[in-house]
Amino acid sequence: MGPGEQLHALVRRLFPICRSITGDGVRQTLAILGEYLPGLQVHEVPTGTPVLDWTVPREWNIREAWVKNQRGEKVIDFEANNLHLVGYSVPVRRWVTRAELEEHLHSLPEQPGLIPYRTAYYAEAWGFCLAHTARLALTDDTYEVCIDSTLAPGALTYGELLLPGETEDEILLSCHICHPALANDNLSGVAVATYLARHLAREPRRYSYRFVFVPGTIGSLTWLSRHFDTVGRVRHGLVLTLLGGPGAFTYKQSRRGNAVVDQAAALVLAQAGVPHAVRPFSPYGYDERQYCSPGFNLPVGCFSRAPFGEFAEYHTSADNLDFVRPDQLAESLDLVQELLAVLDANRRYRSRSPYGEPQLGRRGLYKNVGGGLDGAAWQMALLWVLNLSDGQHTLLHIAERAGLPFAQVHQAAIALQGTDLLELLPD
Ligand code: ZN
Repeated sequence: MGPGEQLHALVRRLFPICRSITGDGVRQTLAILGEYLPGLQVHEVPTGTPVLDWTVPREWNIREAWVKNQRGEKVIDFEANNLHLVGYSVPVRRWVTRAELEEHLHSLPEQPGLIPYRTAYYAEAWGFCLAHTARLALTDDTYEVCIDSTLAPGALTYGELLLPGETEDEILLSCHICHPALANDNLSGVAVATYLARHLAREPRRYSYRFVFVPGTIGSLTWLSRHFDTVGRVRHGLVLTLLGGPGAFTYKQSRRGNAVVDQAAALVLAQAGVPHAVRPFSPYGYDERQYCSPGFNLPVGCFSRAPFGEFAEYHTSADNLDFVRPDQLAESLDLVQELLAVLDANRRYRSRSPYGEPQLGRRGLYKNVGGGLDGAAWQMALLWVLNLSDGQHTLLHIAERAGLPFAQVHQAAIALQGTDLLELLPD
């Protein structure tokens, strides 16, 4: 299997599980991820625990949910698609009139064949979602409703994996694991994060990498509330989501707007030559809202393809296993991997021969031409690194200003470091 197929296979495996912000669906998901990620820690935070301005809610679990007509036929069945039930629906078991049932139904008249995705986390409510065409076919006077759910003291579950590096400074990678049968919104990010972690586990790492798999909003709030003293180690971070669908790559900047991760993402996307957009921060979206709340103000951006709400399949049953494609997943994984490689290699150097241009030929530097570079391009990379390595500029600055691929600039710095001309500065 190629990388894209492997990612897609993981998405397929996780797709049928009914996830929510708490409950066994999240545990099952993390148990599967644990097979891919040795060392993944699963944390359980009890219901009622205060987390910043919020409280861990009651745990929700669901066994079955359906609506039957007067002939006893299931006209809506959670078993057929877990999007049919509004997430966090309270238990119900009774006959209702069609008028009452209608008050609890959600459909999309504009997309009549699709089932919408709805939740009611913080309200005592119940409901069903269905295709608008199916809704129009409901003509009985009364229906039997069964929602065999529990809302009870339990826990919020999240997963965390730390890959220690040479330094305790961290790169934070976060994705949400709270959506049921939605492939792009949630599972694409989960799959990319998982394979990213597997890749990084095999590589030398300067930074430590912390992966968090959390239910949206309440999960990142919970994680932050338990890491108050250590979030200062986060040097760079990304929320990974919507990485398997079509559309141009979209990087949403951190609240700081000028963080190194913002600079690196813009450079990697531009140099990859793929259609993309860089957008400024806004206090809406995924868990970057929490990481970038003003008290934390972490340098965390959001990396996706077409953003939420900007593709017709968003939060519907059309965000399925066909919508998420192996080649799109693989391309996303490649780009995020490249972005992390840039962050890991981005250092500051100082020229030890800043007075006049040093003689490169004498030091054998022209012989080191590598990476498919021609002699002229290699010379430019060497000259730029020497010129801008004044202790102020990082390799990212140099790549930006020189208009050279980061990898070439990095390669030149390594070659120069091997001579007496360049010294690496501490972070
Ligand atoms: Zn969503």
